[in-house]
Amino acid sequence: MNIHETAYMEERFKEAGYEVVPFEERADVYIINTCTVTHTADSKSRKAVRKAKSTNPESLVVVTGCYSEVYPEEVEKIEEADFITGNVEKFNIVGLVERRLRGELPRVYVKGVWKDGKFYPLTLRHYEGRTRAFLKVQQGCELFCSYCIIPKARGRMVSLPPEEVLKQAEELVSAGYKEIVLTGTHLGGYGVDLGGDWNLARLITKLVEIPNLYLLRLSSVEPVEFTDELIEVITSSEKVAPHFHIPLQSGSRTVLERMRRRYTPEEYRRVVEKIVSLRPESCIGTDVMVGFPGETEKEFEETRKLIEELPLGYLHVFPYSRREGTVASKLKDSVSPEEKKERAKILREIGKEKSISFRKQFLGRKLEGLVLSEIEGKRSRALTGNYINVILDKKVPPGEVVRFKLKKVGEKREENYGEVVNR
Ligand code: SF4
Repeated sequence: MNIHETAYMEERFKEAGYEVVPFEERADVYIINTCTVTHTADSKSRKAVRKAKSTNPESLVVVTGCYSEVYPEEVEKIEEADFITGNVEKFNIVGLVERRLRGELPRVYVKGVWKDGKFYPLTLRHYEGRTRAFLKVQQGCELFCSYCIIPKARGRMVSLPPEEVLKQAEELVSAGYKEIVLTGTHLGGYGVDLGGDWNLARLITKLVEIPNLYLLRLSSVEPVEFTDELIEVITSSEKVAPHFHIPLQSGSRTVLERMRRRYTPEEYRRVVEKIVSLRPESCIGTDVMVGFPGETEKEFEETRKLIEELPLGYLHVFPYSRREGTVASKLKDSVSPEEKKERAKILREIGKEKSISFRKQFLGRKLEGLVLSEIEGKRSRALTGNYINVILDKKVPPGEVVRFKLKKVGEKREENYGEVVNR
């Protein structure tokens, strides 16, 4: 979401006649779009603020995003921060920056996402050759998992009305975009605020009817939101990319309870196995957290075992990071940093192996992908529906759907090679 919002701000500045230069260069205004999902994210943001000011001490350094939204008092302590705004301010950033430059606004200007509650549409057109577009259909989360600060940073759940989603998607398709990625802070919660019968499954059913839409990809969806209805929709339409990101967080029932996640490891397993049995080519990715307060050796083993057994395509592993203002912040952060590191390392190794063996299943097979870009005028890069990122031996125009034979699979996820074949 932050990457999209940064691109959005960049576009607005360009539209207003500003020149956007790389962050390392001398600029009059710097915008630091912060993240606060972990301590490391906070510290990186502080460093970026200081770096900007040292590049040009005369500049206006603006801090926006989740860190300043949730902890403005902490950001205020950074001397180099000249203008501190939150998440909703991003959508009117040019006007606000100009007002601050004229001295019309105070140093801290954070309206607060919970007070605001408006939906801020965000459609992003990505890649040369009009290949993929990101369409935000939902924002905010009210699940309050015990470790997570996102509800405080992103506010209440608001969905873009279905007529509007369809209109925007149709416009993107007529503008030539082949793939649409549906995004949201809590995508699976689509529709809960709309009243009536709308939910993600019904929205997808409508979207796949759009003629000329090649692929619809979902960003992360919570395991409990994979209802039978949703599984039926995503496994029965060829237009839905067989790539599903389903956060697990822990494979231990007791840890999941303490995390206030609303499923058991068995329920998670059922969702994954059902999807894969109905669409065997599916790439299932997940997020896992290690070192949650009180996570014992035995609980960690339960996670490791579940992950090893599941047909996963990739893994994102995060060590637990205490966030002030969450329920878990009151629990004793009992797992030592060394132990967290060790547990993360074990899971990352498994993740690497899972990713290689997922891709290896397709070696020698003919696959279809969407060309994203050209490489040095000689080769091209394509992405399959099931998230195999491949370097092709020929130059193919971006935006084209290409058939290729998967020839080689590397250690890294994007290190795969394919040979273009005729249909
Ligand atoms: S569902 Fe996701 S965003 Fe919402 S509170 Fe839980 S982890 Fe955070």
